[in-house]
Amino acid sequence: MKYKNFPMVPRVIFGRGSFNQMNEIIAPKRLLNQAPFIFIIDDFFIGSQKIISNINLYGSDEIIYVSAQEEPKTTQIDELVKYIKTSVSEQPAGIIGIGGGTVIDISKAVAIMLTNNGKTCDYQGWDLVNNPAIYHVGIPTISGTGAEVSRTTVLTGPERKLGINSDFTPFDQVILDPELTSSVPKNQWFFTGMDCFIHSIESLNGTYLNAFSQSYGEKALDLCKQVFNEDYLTEQESQDKLMMASWHGGMSIAYSQVGIAHALSYGLSYVLGTKHGIGNCIVFDHLEDYYPEGVTLFKEMKEKHGIILPKGVCSSLKDVEFDTMIRVAMSLEPLWENAIGKQWKSLITPQLLRGLYEKM
Ligand code: NAD
Ligand code: ZN
Repeated sequence: MKYKNFPMVPRVIFGRGSFNQMNEIIAPKRLLNQAPFIFIIDDFFIGSQKIISNINLYGSDEIIYVSAQEEPKTTQIDELVKYIKTSVSEQPAGIIGIGGGTVIDISKAVAIMLTNNGKTCDYQGWDLVNNPAIYHVGIPTISGTGAEVSRTTVLTGPERKLGINSDFTPFDQVILDPELTSSVPKNQWFFTGMDCFIHSIESLNGTYLNAFSQSYGEKALDLCKQVFNEDYLTEQESQDKLMMASWHGGMSIAYSQVGIAHALSYGLSYVLGTKHGIGNCIVFDHLEDYYPEGVTLFKEMKEKHGIILPKGVCSSLKDVEFDTMIRVAMSLEPLWENAIGKQWKSLITPQLLRGLYEKM
């Protein structure tokens, strides 16, 4: 047995309003290096008082707004890196990513690709990155993905949706300010929050489970239950707790793995462009045979919050599209092995997955 020796985010600040300390947190990095900071920000925040007005720009610092309407693509990272290299004369002092999982992942990938040659898609996989990324800071504005703490950045490439999993991917600094999540619309709050719930269920019910993952997974699950299935929290407490649930969920899967909902959701996303949070929910709703207690609880929470999931999302797919979806899902071998065990290939067949996708 070879145990993983994985890196964690070395510095984190937590608290309502802690975003206001960002300028002072990054200042020392600026003093060592006169190069600019590049702020990659979700375009939802264009003109935001809370965020944009609180960023002190110096010299050739630049804000790049990106849309989170679609999930990040490897070609998008290539273009951003090319743009930064041509618009800034020297290597930036750092990348500051402000947004949901989409922008967080884009920021990590850009920080890596500024110091590694070639195309972003060459690094999709496990431990393919050669050089350390530049200093990168993550500031999540929506809670659930755990991307702020994870060792991966999930990207859709020409062949597959797969992360850049590496020791250089995690942020050097994370700022957890739950106040930044106060503007998240209800449906999005539920979908992204359920990503965390599903991380905890898949981790806790996987064959890779160990005491490390379990301790974080149980805490994430407990916090999700408080936030989504109880009524006693104030709005602020709920925001605070969901931000910490996301962190714990991410820590839990860091030392185990996700499972069936994620494998199938990656297939949906690759063929239909379905976003991660809602895709996980669409899939998880049909996984009662695999995660009976989790799915029962999920249905209760869905009902409680009046969430209506789309139906028949695969109804007009052609055979070739189903085949691609199934290929992408089945290629995520560690996820299936975690969910089912080493013998998963004898139990999980393309026909079985086709049946599941047809139900969605
Ligand atoms: P997102 O970043 O896709 O954003 C969803 C929507 O919410 C967007 O419209 C965005 O503009 C909006 N939004 C974000 N913050 C807001 C705020 N404070 N107020 C109002 N609107 C706001 O959402 P997400 O679910 O956090 O991220 C999904 C992405 O995360 C996917 O690309 C997925 O692959 C990735 N992901 C990564 C990891 C990882 O470990 N790296 C893990 C899970 C998911
Ligand atoms: Zn997820």
